[in-house]
Amino acid sequence: MTDGVSDEDFLLAVLNSTPVIDGVPADELGDAARARAWLAGFGGLGTEAERRNVVEVRQALQAVVRGQQPPDVLAPALRGLTSRPVMAGGRIDWILSVPPERELAARAVLAWDALAGRSPGRLRPCANHECRLFLVDHSKANAARWCSMAVCGNRMKARRHYQRSRA
Ligand SMILES: [Zn+2]
Repeated sequence: MTDGVSDEDFLLAVLNSTPVIDGVPADELGDAARARAWLAGFGGLGTEAERRNVVEVRQALQAVVRGQQPPDVLAPALRGLTSRPVMAGGRIDWILSVPPERELAARAVLAWDALAGRSPGRLRPCANHECRLFLVDHSKANAARWCSMAVCGNRMKARRHYQRSRA
Protein backbone atom coordinates (compact mmCIF):
# COMPACT_ATOMS: atom_id res chain seq x y z
CA MET A 1 0.00 0.00 0.00
CA THR A 2 2.83 2.42 -0.70
CA ASP A 3 2.64 4.85 -3.56
CA GLY A 4 4.07 8.05 -2.13
CA VAL A 5 0.71 9.42 -0.96
CA SER A 6 0.17 9.50 2.79
CA ASP A 7 -2.86 7.67 4.14
CA GLU A 8 -4.29 10.96 5.38
CA ASP A 9 -3.93 12.56 1.94
CA PHE A 10 -5.53 9.52 0.38
CA LEU A 11 -8.45 9.65 2.82
CA LEU A 12 -9.02 13.33 2.00
CA ALA A 13 -8.79 12.57 -1.72
CA VAL A 14 -11.55 9.97 -1.32
CA LEU A 15 -13.75 12.27 0.79
CA ASN A 16 -13.15 15.19 -1.56
CA SER A 17 -13.81 13.38 -4.82
CA THR A 18 -17.34 14.83 -5.01
CA PRO A 19 -16.57 18.56 -5.18
CA VAL A 20 -18.93 21.31 -6.27
CA ILE A 21 -17.33 23.07 -9.23
CA ASP A 22 -18.87 26.40 -10.28
CA GLY A 23 -22.03 25.45 -8.41
CA VAL A 24 -22.32 22.04 -10.10
CA PRO A 25 -21.76 18.80 -8.12
CA ALA A 26 -19.02 16.73 -9.75
CA ASP A 27 -17.80 13.19 -9.16
CA GLU A 28 -14.22 12.23 -9.92
CA LEU A 29 -15.27 8.58 -9.79
CA GLY A 30 -18.44 9.15 -11.75
CA ASP A 31 -17.43 7.85 -15.17
CA ALA A 32 -15.29 4.84 -15.92
CA ALA A 33 -12.44 6.61 -17.74
CA ARG A 34 -11.96 9.29 -15.09
CA ALA A 35 -12.29 6.74 -12.31
CA ARG A 36 -9.64 4.50 -13.88
CA ALA A 37 -7.11 7.33 -13.91
CA TRP A 38 -8.04 8.42 -10.40
CA LEU A 39 -7.74 4.90 -8.95
CA ALA A 40 -4.49 4.19 -10.79
CA GLY A 41 -3.10 7.48 -9.46
CA PHE A 42 -3.44 6.04 -5.96
CA GLY A 43 -1.86 2.71 -6.84
CA GLY A 44 -5.18 0.97 -7.54
CA LEU A 45 -6.16 -1.45 -10.28
CA GLY A 46 -8.61 0.86 -12.00
CA THR A 47 -11.22 -1.90 -12.33
CA GLU A 48 -14.97 -1.45 -12.14
CA ALA A 49 -15.16 -3.60 -8.97
CA GLU A 50 -12.57 -1.41 -7.30
CA ARG A 51 -14.41 1.74 -8.36
CA ARG A 52 -17.65 0.41 -6.87
CA ASN A 53 -15.91 -0.43 -3.59
CA VAL A 54 -14.33 3.02 -3.31
CA VAL A 55 -17.60 4.80 -4.19
CA GLU A 56 -19.41 2.73 -1.55
CA VAL A 57 -16.87 3.44 1.16
CA ARG A 58 -16.75 7.11 0.18
CA GLN A 59 -20.47 7.45 0.71
CA ALA A 60 -20.19 5.78 4.12
CA LEU A 61 -17.16 7.85 5.17
CA GLN A 62 -18.79 11.12 4.10
CA ALA A 63 -21.91 10.27 6.13
CA VAL A 64 -19.84 9.29 9.18
CA VAL A 65 -17.70 12.44 9.08
CA ARG A 66 -20.85 14.57 8.66
CA GLY A 67 -22.29 12.83 11.72
CA GLN A 68 -25.21 11.41 9.73
CA GLN A 69 -24.32 7.74 10.23
CA PRO A 70 -22.57 5.74 12.97
CA PRO A 71 -19.09 4.38 12.15
CA ASP A 72 -20.61 0.89 11.95
CA VAL A 73 -21.58 1.66 8.34
CA LEU A 74 -17.87 1.32 7.49
CA ALA A 75 -17.81 -2.34 8.48
CA PRO A 76 -18.51 -3.74 4.98
CA ALA A 77 -15.22 -2.22 3.75
CA LEU A 78 -13.36 -4.47 6.18
CA ARG A 79 -14.84 -7.68 4.81
CA GLY A 80 -12.19 -10.14 3.69
CA LEU A 81 -9.34 -8.44 5.53
CA THR A 82 -6.94 -10.62 7.45
CA SER A 83 -3.81 -9.82 9.36
CA ARG A 84 -0.95 -12.20 10.07
CA PRO A 85 2.07 -11.77 12.30
CA VAL A 86 5.64 -12.10 11.03
CA MET A 87 8.91 -11.75 12.93
CA ALA A 88 10.89 -8.78 11.64
CA GLY A 89 14.10 -7.65 13.34
CA GLY A 90 13.16 -9.18 16.67
CA ARG A 91 9.69 -7.58 16.61
CA ILE A 92 6.33 -8.75 15.39
CA ASP A 93 4.95 -7.01 12.34
CA TRP A 94 1.33 -7.44 11.31
CA ILE A 95 0.97 -7.95 7.59
CA LEU A 96 -2.44 -6.99 6.27
CA SER A 97 -3.93 -9.04 3.51
CA VAL A 98 -6.77 -7.57 1.46
CA PRO A 99 -8.46 -8.80 -1.73
CA PRO A 100 -6.92 -6.52 -4.42
CA GLU A 101 -10.18 -4.93 -5.53
CA ARG A 102 -10.95 -3.96 -1.92
CA GLU A 103 -7.52 -2.60 -1.07
CA LEU A 104 -8.16 1.11 -1.68
CA ALA A 105 -11.54 1.04 0.07
CA ALA A 106 -9.99 -0.72 3.07
CA ARG A 107 -7.09 1.71 3.06
CA ALA A 108 -9.50 4.65 3.30
CA VAL A 109 -11.27 3.16 6.33
CA LEU A 110 -8.00 2.26 8.05
CA ALA A 111 -6.72 5.79 7.39
CA TRP A 112 -9.92 7.22 8.87
CA ASP A 113 -9.48 5.08 11.99
CA ALA A 114 -5.79 5.96 12.34
CA LEU A 115 -6.60 9.66 12.03
CA ALA A 116 -9.48 9.43 14.54
CA GLY A 117 -7.10 7.74 16.99
CA ARG A 118 -4.19 10.12 16.40
CA SER A 119 -6.12 13.37 16.00
CA PRO A 120 -9.69 12.95 17.28
CA GLY A 121 -12.15 15.57 16.07
CA ARG A 122 -9.80 17.01 13.47
CA LEU A 123 -11.54 15.68 10.39
CA ARG A 124 -14.66 17.65 9.52
CA PRO A 125 -16.83 18.90 6.68
CA CYS A 126 -16.28 22.42 5.38
CA ALA A 127 -18.61 24.86 7.18
CA ASN A 128 -19.78 26.27 3.84
CA HIS A 129 -22.93 24.22 3.25
CA GLU A 130 -22.72 24.71 -0.49
CA CYS A 131 -19.26 23.12 -0.44
CA ARG A 132 -18.95 19.36 -0.19
CA LEU A 133 -15.28 19.21 0.77
CA PHE A 134 -13.70 18.01 4.00
CA LEU A 135 -10.67 19.18 5.91
CA VAL A 136 -8.22 17.93 8.50
CA ASP A 137 -7.46 20.71 10.95
CA HIS A 138 -3.79 20.69 11.94
CA SER A 139 -3.90 24.09 13.67
CA LYS A 140 -3.13 24.43 17.37
CA ALA A 141 -6.46 26.11 18.10
CA ASN A 142 -8.43 23.43 16.20
CA ALA A 143 -10.77 26.15 14.95
CA ALA A 144 -10.46 25.77 11.17
CA ARG A 145 -13.89 25.75 9.54
CA TRP A 146 -13.22 26.01 5.83
CA CYS A 147 -11.70 23.59 3.35
CA SER A 148 -9.81 26.61 2.09
CA MET A 149 -9.63 30.11 3.56
CA ALA A 150 -9.00 31.48 0.07
CA VAL A 151 -12.17 29.97 -1.37
CA CYS A 152 -14.84 29.14 1.21
CA GLY A 153 -13.52 31.30 4.05
CA ASN A 154 -13.56 34.48 2.01
CA ARG A 155 -16.83 33.61 0.32
CA MET A 156 -18.61 33.09 3.65
CA LYS A 157 -17.08 36.23 5.13
CA ALA A 158 -18.20 38.26 2.15
CA ARG A 159 -21.70 36.82 2.44
CA ARG A 160 -21.94 37.66 6.14
CA HIS A 161 -20.69 41.14 5.44
CA TYR A 162 -23.28 41.53 2.67
CA GLN A 163 -26.08 40.27 4.94
CA ARG A 164 -24.98 42.59 7.74
CA SER A 165 -24.84 45.60 5.44
CA ARG A 166 -28.34 44.81 4.15
CA ALA A 167 -29.81 44.30 7.61
ZN1 LIG B 1 -15.28 24.57 1.38
